[in-house]
Amino acid sequence: MTFATLGLSPELLLAVAARQYTLPTAVQTEAIPAVLAGQDVMALAQTGSGKTAAFALPLLQRLQQDMEQDREEGSKEGSKQRKVKVLVLVPTRELSGQVGQTIEALAGHLPKKLKVAVIYGGASINPQMMHLRGGADVVISTPGRLLDLLDNNALSLQHVSTLVLDEADRLLDLGFADEIKRILEQLPAQRQNLFFSATFSPAVKKLALALLHEPKRIAI
Ligand code: AMP
Repeated sequence: MTFATLGLSPELLLAVAARQYTLPTAVQTEAIPAVLAGQDVMALAQTGSGKTAAFALPLLQRLQQDMEQDREEGSKEGSKQRKVKVLVLVPTRELSGQVGQTIEALAGHLPKKLKVAVIYGGASINPQMMHLRGGADVVISTPGRLLDLLDNNALSLQHVSTLVLDEADRLLDLGFADEIKRILEQLPAQRQNLFFSATFSPAVKKLALALLHEPKRIAI
């Protein structure tokens, strides 16, 4: 299996080559076609498994296709105010930065530029509010700060088409269950959900099963 046979666009293949990924990892081989097809995913994935690119590559491809379609339909909408289409929830500031960097790098060869916003707690909220002016295509956030920004009307989640829970077990370990619940209430009911976790305790499994619709199960 190669990245090309997984159905990725030439621009994303360039980005993958630039990062010197020669072959897809196991989680990438299984997740990429499922995400491209719009399926939900439930994946057992450790740090180092290549999980970030496993969701980022196919989501970038779909975002790009959506933008091209909007342009063909002559839609002026979104030309100024970008709507958040992909929301990635992460447990820590450190992970938000890592995921943001990977997504920015993988998006670097795409013809239409995407705006990626990285949001985390423990830092001043004002620059994050400023950065969100004009919207964003992809938001990567820790749960508590995202709720603060939503309470301030600094962004809307009404147009999110894909939710990613990254390191879901750590999100629960850090006590974010209530925050996640409040965030889910603000998302459209009809959406794709991608769930990545290094462990599947009963609590993690319960959250996954409540969230996911006929998911593709990877290594579970
Ligand atoms: P992650 O599991 O997403 O934290 O990724 C772990 C590391 O593996 C990161 O440094 C990635 O850049 C790298 N990586 C991801 N996919 C591949 C691949 N297919 N081949 C080689 N390295 C990769």
